[in-house]
Parts: sequence; C-alpha cells; structure tokens
Amino acid sequence: MTEHAVVIAGGGPTGMMLAAELALAKVDVAVLERRPDHVLVGSRAGGVHSRTIEVLDQRGVADRFLAEGQVAQAAMFATTVLDMSDFPTRHPYSLGIWQNRIERIMAAWIAELPVRIYYGCEVTGFVQDGAGVDVERSDGHSLRASYLVGCDGGRSVIRKAAAIDFPGWDPTRSNLIAEVETTDEPPKGIRHDASGVHALHTMEDGRTVRVIVTEQQIGPAGEPTLRDLSEALVAVYGTDFGIHNPTWISRFTDMTRQAAAYRAGRVLLAGDSAHVHYPAGGQGLSLGVQDAVNLGWKLAQVVNGTSPESLLDTYHDERHPVAARALRHTMAQAALQRRDERIQALVDVVSELAAMDEPRKRLAGIISGLDIHYDLGEGHPLLGRRMPDLDLVTVDGPLRVFELLHGAKPVLLNLGAPGAFDITPWADRVQMIDAEYGGPWDLPVLGAVSAPTAVVIRPDGYVAWVGERTQLGLAEALTTWFGPPAAP
Ligand SMILES: Cc1cc2nc3c(=O)[nH]c(=O)nc-3n(C[C@H](O)[C@H](O)[C@H](O)COP(=O)(O)OP(=O)(O)OC[C@H]3O[C@@H](n4cnc5c(N)ncnc54)[C@H](O)[C@@H]3O)c2cc1C
Repeated sequence: MTEHAVVIAGGGPTGMMLAAELALAKVDVAVLERRPDHVLVGSRAGGVHSRTIEVLDQRGVADRFLAEGQVAQAAMFATTVLDMSDFPTRHPYSLGIWQNRIERIMAAWIAELPVRIYYGCEVTGFVQDGAGVDVERSDGHSLRASYLVGCDGGRSVIRKAAAIDFPGWDPTRSNLIAEVETTDEPPKGIRHDASGVHALHTMEDGRTVRVIVTEQQIGPAGEPTLRDLSEALVAVYGTDFGIHNPTWISRFTDMTRQAAAYRAGRVLLAGDSAHVHYPAGGQGLSLGVQDAVNLGWKLAQVVNGTSPESLLDTYHDERHPVAARALRHTMAQAALQRRDERIQALVDVVSELAAMDEPRKRLAGIISGLDIHYDLGEGHPLLGRRMPDLDLVTVDGPLRVFELLHGAKPVLLNLGAPGAFDITPWADRVQMIDAEYGGPWDLPVLGAVSAPTAVVIRPDGYVAWVGERTQLGLAEALTTWFGPPAAP
C-alpha cells in the first residue's frame, strides 16, 4: 500500500495551502483531489482580505497574487466601505482576484514544492487505528497515512466519516450564481429587496455576465438549471435578459454550521469542511487558508517527532473561536442584505455607526483578519497576535520580518543587546536573529504598544513569547511550541 506521512483530502485553496506548509516543513504530503486537474469551473470567490495577503507574503508568494488581482477597499459592513488604508500593515486593502485564478497560482506554487498530488481521485472514507489512517478511494485503492486532513469542502466526506457533529443554522434563503451571456443589456450593479441581494456584473472578457440572484424560495438540492436561473431573474427584474450559453450555474445558501471538533484522533478538518456560512463579507477562502497556516507547522512537528500530539489540540483551540466569530459576523451581514423598509432603516443606522472611527476599525479588524488574537495567556499585547512586518537592520543588511518566515521556521528575534540569548538546545528548530528596529510598534485596531526587547515568532507569524528586558518564560515557550530541548 502506498504510504505518505500526511494525506490531504481535497485540493482547493485550503488543501493546497496546507500541502505547501507541510512540504516547506519537509513532510511527505499527498493531496487527493476529485477534479481531473486544478481548473475550477466558474469564478466563485472574489478575493482575499489583508491578513491572508500577509500570510502569503510570509511565504514569499504574495506578489504572484497581487500581480493578477486588483487591490481595493472592499471590506464592507451594511452599506459602509470599511476603509483600512490607515491600518499598520504593508497590505492595508483587500485583493480582488477570482478563486479560479487563486487556485491556478497556488497549483503552480505547490508544483515547485515536493507535494504529491493525485488528481481525479475521490476519497470515499477512512479507517483509523492507533498508528495511522487507511484512506479509501473511489477506485478501490487505499493509501496509508499517519494523519489525514479533510480539506474537502462544505459537504466533507471526511467530517461525516469521522462522525464529527456539524451544528448550526439551517438555510433560510438560497442564491443562484452563474456565468452566462445575455441577449439584452442587463443593469449592472447590486440590488437589494425583501428577498435579499442580487448582482449583475460584466466580466473581463466583456461578454460574460456574472449573475447572483436570491431565489424566492430555497432551491432544492441538486444542480440548478438555466431555467431555474431564468425564473429567479424574472421574479426580481421582470426579465431574464435573454440568458444563454451558461458556463457555470451553482447554488449557495445561508446555511451556517461549524464542526464541533476540528480533530478526531489522527483526522483533522480545515477550511469549508470545518465551517460553512453565507459568503457575505467574503471571508470563507481567507479562513481556510489561515486554518491551513495554523495547522501546517503543528502537524509537521508532530509528524517529525519534535512535538507531542497534544500540540494538535491547540489548532482547534485557536481556530474554532476565529471561525465562530466569523460565522456570527456573516449572519449579521446576511440579515442586513434583506431590505424591506424596516431592515433598510436598520441598515441606515448600522451604516452610519460603521463609518465612525472606532467601529470602522473594529469591523475592519474582523473582516481583514488582522485583529486575530489567539489566547496564549496574559502578557504584552503582542502575545498571540500577528507579528508586524517590521523593517529590521541586521549585520547582513536590511531585512523584513516576513522574509524570516519564508521557510516556515520559527524565529527568536532579539532586538536588544546582540548575543543576549543562547537557545542552543533548540538551534536545530528555531532561527536566532539579532536585529535593530527603532520605529514605532503599532498594531491594527489596538494602536501603539510598548517596544519589546525580543519576541518568539511561530511559523504562522503569531507571537508566542515577548521579552521585556528579561528571558523569563522563554524556555517554557520554546518547549510548548517547538518541543523539548535537545539533549546536550
Ligand atoms: C458565490 C461565492 C462567493 C464567495 N466569495 C468569497 C470571497 O470573496 N472571499 C472568500 O474568502 N471566500 C468566498 N467564498 C467562499 C470560498 O469559495 C470557500 O470558502 C473556499 O473555496 C473554501 O476553500 P476549501 O479549500 O476549504 O474548500 P473548497 O474550495 O470547497 O475545496 C474543496 C476541494 O475538495 C475537493 N473534494 C471534495 N470532496 C472530495 C473527495 N471526497 N475526495 C477528493 N476531493 C474532494 C473539491 O473538488 C475541491 O477541490 C465564496 C463562495 C461562494 C459560493
């Protein structure tokens, strides 16, 4: 039987990001993807938010995405654009880029890494024992892995086979999304009514119209047809604009659910397999990519034997609350999209509030992902928050903090007296960098914080320890996150 250390079911954005993280950590990883190749039919998600651009920047690949997309202030709440151009980040914006392009760029990136990808390969289930997982495929073959990660989307076979509960809220409405041609020129832009939101946009080729229309009743399970789309358009616009030549028709709902556990033994969930929600606010893809970046290095350390299996539990502990908050946020956003006169009055009030400085920053912090705070205990405000991409000065010249993270290895960044730290017992795992930084310490939403003298940065870019003129707690933090010290 073929063996891999980690098998990932599903090669969407989450699965590909996780594969990259594991490959960077030198883990033997394979992706099983149902589609015949990476090509995604239809445009699907419209982009990513700031923290996701940052995590791609941490791996040195953000420019590939920025080159093909358009930066914009696209985070919104009710009718207010949450301008985050004053946020202290190199990427104080969202990036408009269709998901099929994102996946093409990601597929090209992981092709440069030692990732084994099996296309046209559907996972049907698994059996786990104390030592590993047998992953079953639709062609009757199976693969053996130490760990299996379900990145297989909202209808996840892995989640179901693991018998992980998926509590939440049933759908109250459905939308059709499609790419079609029209005989008549449709009105462009977004429209709201009592049923929800509708939008018509001409795509880059000048011919194809991307249609999003809320259905009058929740549509049935199964593939929607051109006729369904026509009826939904007529109900809203009084005409279907002569739609024809569909290249993609799909249906999504406001069903909102989250896996009760992100781990069952040697099986883990990430991305849409762990949480589904209405796409208001456009956070789904970003959440999945960040799940992958949180899980990847932890799983690599467990597989490589540097950390105990209990490290994997911090994945659920950290990421479950982040998605839970995003789910509630999208439910609020979705409620504000239904516009009878009473809701419109509420939208007006909320929009006015969202334009004020403090609420703007708070809401933009949530949507951008820049305010994420993992609960790593009491201490300096940096603890558990993202490390800013500071411009450092080192003996080898200028260096950005994110450049230190390209290889997905942790860093002890000493900003005090050079040579003050000796981390020999972790030297095989943790980079030790002496550097100078004299600029401000400014965090999104929080504002200015006091300058630390040293920080430990995890491979996902979050701060695991802050030194303020003392090394108190450093050895414990290194042990907790990167395993026990090596014997002398
Ligand atoms: C209309 C719309 C607009 C959206 N807009 C945004 C947006 O602007 N921003 C944003 O962040 N998100 C947006 N989203 C959400 C986003 O598309 C998803 O959150 C994202 O695709 C999740 O990625 P994933 O890799 O976790 O899952 P998926 O993209 O669903 O990938 C799962 C992969 O697993 C494969 N697979 C499934 N089952 C199996 C199996 N049994 N065996 C092998 N392979 C399997 C599938 O083929 C697929 O490639 C939008 C979604 C919709 C529908």
